[in-house]
Amino acid sequence: MIMNLTDVFTSEGKVKKISQTYDAGNVSYMGENYPVVDKSDVSLTFTNIGTGRILLEGELSLTVEIPCDRCLQSVEVPIGVSFVHELTAPNEENVSEEEEEQCFMSGYELDTDTLISNEILINMPVKVLCREECKGICPVCGQNRNEKECGCDTFVPDPRMAAIKDIFNANKEV
Ligand SMILES: [Zn+2]
Ligand SMILES: [Zn+2]
Repeated sequence: MIMNLTDVFTSEGKVKKISQTYDAGNVSYMGENYPVVDKSDVSLTFTNIGTGRILLEGELSLTVEIPCDRCLQSVEVPIGVSFVHELTAPNEENVSEEEEEQCFMSGYELDTDTLISNEILINMPVKVLCREECKGICPVCGQNRNEKECGCDTFVPDPRMAAIKDIFNANKEV
């Protein structure tokens, strides 16, 4: 959604609150699409903090389905998004250090979709595990070891040794 903020930029002390539906069905992150299974509305509060300056506070919570890093089973991950930005009108001297990051502002207009999706990406978890003690997938047979022990020998040797072993095996196949 594109919001024109001229009224807030120009009225001293003005506070404007809006609530907006977050309607994206999934989050695209690092080349993958993760389905959004639950979400709150986006709440945005704009406060005029001087001529041509707005303090923007926003909040959203959502639940995204992300595969476990070890066993690839879907995990519902709650993500809390909360942010504060200072917006500056185009004709004002920029007092904020954020200027270059504000790709969501164009003149007096705020692109809320760009803003929100940026904020979600910042809050995406680096690592997702279905549980702390997830045993993961057997690298030998692919069995999910949380469900069943496959009994494979999964001793992982020094990677340099593994490379030598690969060469050895490749030679043997010839
Ligand atoms: Zn897992
Ligand atoms: Zn196995």
